[in-house]
Amino acid sequence: MAFDACFFDLDGTLYDSRCGMLDRINQLIDEWILRVIPMPREKVSSFRHDMFQKYGGTLPGLAVEYGSDYYASLRYCHNLKVEDFVSENPELRSLLLQLPGRKYILTTSYRFYAVRVLKALGILECFDGIIDAVDVFPAPKPAPEAFQRALQITAETDVRKCAFLDDQPRNAAAAHKEGFFAVQVGTEYPGDPLADAWIPKIEDLRSIPELY
Ligand SMILES: [Mg+2]
Repeated sequence: MAFDACFFDLDGTLYDSRCGMLDRINQLIDEWILRVIPMPREKVSSFRHDMFQKYGGTLPGLAVEYGSDYYASLRYCHNLKVEDFVSENPELRSLLLQLPGRKYILTTSYRFYAVRVLKALGILECFDGIIDAVDVFPAPKPAPEAFQRALQITAETDVRKCAFLDDQPRNAAAAHKEGFFAVQVGTEYPGDPLADAWIPKIEDLRSIPELY
């Protein structure tokens, strides 16, 4: 049984998280924090952990609690040359083109960055739309509101006919709870029992019979 729609996380799901791009974004987020709130550098990591637990991300937390300009923070933290980290993936492109149903990106990053990454991977036109950090502010994944918002924006009315793929176990688990067919991608957290399926990497998409 194929699904009407598949929602894909971007970072660490559609490209290998070990390519260094997320490390660079994390450095930029650290810099942004120190611009907004002067604090000793060694406090940054625990501050980020708190914001992640409370808001699902550092940048929405900074905007809500400290009045940081959300758009400016997204622009600052995604200001990097994505082609230095990712390149065309014809295998993934072919898998996506064969995959039945509508395809969307559901990301907690910035739309303009997402477009650049998808373009660099050579898969931009495989997708029908992008739901980004601004669309789900102030409650990104794994908040139930983020998934509800994604369904609303895309006018997908039956969550049981939707799949969701993400490299973060807590996001896959949350999507499963909301009624999606949830797939966890990546070797970092193998075999999360709360997802409906697991693949080590996105190129293994075809091994999930429910999707094709
Ligand atoms: Mg991810």
